[in-house]
Amino acid sequence: MNLWQRISTPRLMVQIGWLIFANAMIFGLPAFGEIPALRNVFFPDATTKFFQNAPTYSIIYMLQDTLVGDFATFYMGLVIPILIFVTLVLVMGRFWCAWLCPLGLPQDLLTRLRRSLGIKRVNLPPNWSVFLHQMKYLGLFLIIFYTFALGFPHLGLSNFQSSLLLPYELLDPNRAMYVYPQIWMGLLPASTVVPWLSILTFGFFLMTCFPIRRFWCHLCPAGALMAPLNKYAMIHLKKDASKCTHCGICARVCPMEIKKVYTEREQENVTVSVCVHCYRCVESCPEEGCLGVSIMGKVVLESKYPDEISISPEEGVPN
Ligand code: SF4
Ligand code: SF4
Ligand code: SF4
Repeated sequence: MNLWQRISTPRLMVQIGWLIFANAMIFGLPAFGEIPALRNVFFPDATTKFFQNAPTYSIIYMLQDTLVGDFATFYMGLVIPILIFVTLVLVMGRFWCAWLCPLGLPQDLLTRLRRSLGIKRVNLPPNWSVFLHQMKYLGLFLIIFYTFALGFPHLGLSNFQSSLLLPYELLDPNRAMYVYPQIWMGLLPASTVVPWLSILTFGFFLMTCFPIRRFWCHLCPAGALMAPLNKYAMIHLKKDASKCTHCGICARVCPMEIKKVYTEREQENVTVSVCVHCYRCVESCPEEGCLGVSIMGKVVLESKYPDEISISPEEGVPN
């Protein structure tokens, strides 16, 4: 079995590599941020909303900045980044989520830690999963609506706004997770604001993502932005239903608890809005050529009997 057949290992390497690269951008390659279009995409605020959040959270931040601002940055600060964002999602779907997102890596590491401690995972009841997916759209709507309302001073909502931060920044666990280490390393001034709500959200993130795989991704507003286009992306999961033995492994290994890959009997494209493109299902499917990853019709990865992978009691599949 080659390295790419066992996709979780290179994926972890990419996640760690990206985090190092993205952080290095903050202090190592500031010239990158001097190019206006790139600055808007990658450096909406070079000090705290840094490169590693692009292109997901940055879009929310840019939307907020434009809504409470005077719309002076409407094109360069919002329209162009949104076009880039939509194009990226139509090309690579939610590939960002499993491979690059700074909140995806800690969730995956918490799962690995839990498994190494021999602690069983908690499964979301099916109804909860559906409910949470709907809640993330509601959350995104409230964040945008509240931000929009902040642009109307006579509503008095600005009293509830921190002096520097906009609604999503107050809640974003990224701030507590990554700003504190940067303050400790001397990369950010000690006065950098980390709101207590963000610290609370980070605590919630740790408590929920340790027992439940990728729990935050069920709620994430950036995921809500990408989800509707995921199915239409050039990269997608494909299934040859004639080779499926209905063993159920793909449903059990999926960190997003997706059942469609298992249940689909007709359609070839089995990508759903919540799929984060981790390809755990592909690497774990025991039927050769049953599941695969396709880019514009060209298959780049296929399932193959995972004879070299140890079986974990938790999933009945590889760790
Ligand atoms: S859903 Fe949100 S937190 Fe999860 S990986 Fe995607 S962007 Fe990151
Ligand atoms: S793991 Fe493969 S064979 Fe088993 S149910 Fe899923 S698609 Fe079918
Ligand atoms: S359906 Fe497959 S690729 Fe998508 S999240 Fe689940 S395991 Fe990962």
